[in-house]
Amino acid sequence: MDDRHQDRHQDRHQDRHQDGNALAGPLAEIFSVDVTAALGRCAACGLNGPLASLRVYGQAPGPLVGRCPGCEAVVLRLVRGPEDAWLDLSGTRCLRVPLGG
Ligand SMILES: [Zn+2]
Repeated sequence: MDDRHQDRHQDRHQDRHQDGNALAGPLAEIFSVDVTAALGRCAACGLNGPLASLRVYGQAPGPLVGRCPGCEAVVLRLVRGPEDAWLDLSGTRCLRVPLGG
């Protein structure tokens, strides 16, 4: 492992992140259900888990990136602009949303 690769590896593990519950407020504006309870499947490794288990980088209202706790792939990106929210779920194979009832 060269120094550059090792630095990048250490940076990734020293990044500060929150758990997926940090998405609850910003996503509540878009979805009327608590989407952090939804079960998502990582498109990269197939891991199933609630969005609350994601590793979330960034701070609302700034851009948020949710990474898979299994493989660190980007599962979702959320950017809140002045008039719109952009939600990129291309790293999510599917999302199962509990609706009750
Ligand atoms: Zn994964």
